[in-house]
Amino acid sequence: MPSEFELIRKYFERAPREIRPGDRRTRRVALGIGDDAALLRPSAGMELAVSTDLLLEGTHFRAGADARKLGHKALAVNLSDMAAMGAAPRWATLALALPAANEAWLAGFAGGFFALADRFGVELIGGDTTRATPQGAEPGAIVICITILGEVPRSLALFRAGAQPGDDIWVSGELGGAALALTQPGNAAMEKRLEEPEPRVELGERLRGLASAAIDVSDGFAQDLGHILERSGAGAVVEYASLPRPAEVKNIADENLQAGLVLCGGDDYELVFAAPQARRGELAALSAELKLPLSRVGAIQGADARLQVLDGQGKPMRVGHGFDHFAP
Ligand code: ADP
Ligand code: MG
Repeated sequence: MPSEFELIRKYFERAPREIRPGDRRTRRVALGIGDDAALLRPSAGMELAVSTDLLLEGTHFRAGADARKLGHKALAVNLSDMAAMGAAPRWATLALALPAANEAWLAGFAGGFFALADRFGVELIGGDTTRATPQGAEPGAIVICITILGEVPRSLALFRAGAQPGDDIWVSGELGGAALALTQPGNAAMEKRLEEPEPRVELGERLRGLASAAIDVSDGFAQDLGHILERSGAGAVVEYASLPRPAEVKNIADENLQAGLVLCGGDDYELVFAAPQARRGELAALSAELKLPLSRVGAIQGADARLQVLDGQGKPMRVGHGFDHFAP
């Protein structure tokens, strides 16, 4: 059986020749995998954005889930956090606890991880690898923990705080597809949204100086917009009918089920953001340029409005809760 070090070298430490001469990444990393720490070269005038996400087998993904898709998703959820901050993703570390040294799994995982990392110029600069199964114990669960580092020009990062009464509320892409796949498997397009989400990295970077607040939808639209409202000391009115949803969700006859998916379904990794009304034209142009639908779904209000979602008749709807790991 290969040692921990052989596995790291084989699957995660990429030979220098794989990074082409002149590749901009070579200048951002002074020292990568293989020493006691990596050395980074942040650009002048930039702030570093740092975020960590942990995925646990059985909680965040099913036992036996496809390793390549997991490699994609584990990085995608971290890239989504960079997008929500308006940061350009640059470097990542990867900590893995594995029940056994399964090389087919490692090859698949690394394939999905690097395919996505290469699209956004992210370099894996280190990590940790350990066996999740102590001597003589039952096999432990897979744990995948990625820390991502990105750069954002000083004072241009997007926060959850900052939304102002009168601002429009916008959503990228569509909501509810990932949650539909989770509750009713079988539709390939919706399963792709759940298993291989597309982080809105370009959008996040372009929203610098344009959005007044932003967040990514990991736990459900209502809950994640709620974080913006709480941090901004604001309320909001949202028109349910204007929330973008895929045909597969739109066609669900049970209206409560449909509303639950759109308002409370997690895992879509779209961006929800606020922007002044005066920026509508720029956002329409940005949507066309990125070929990414941006929908205006409501307005920020004073704090006493809380979060109101209005149905087609203008009547307030009852909104459930998004996902909460510690909910009773
Ligand atoms: P240490 O004993 O200092 O923790 P390790 O032997 O665990 O170092 O790791 C050796 C090198 O391999 C380090 O540069 C570390 O960052 C890197 N590394 C370990 N596991 C991974 C991984 N899963 N992905 C990327 N790099 C890794
Ligand atoms: Mg170590």
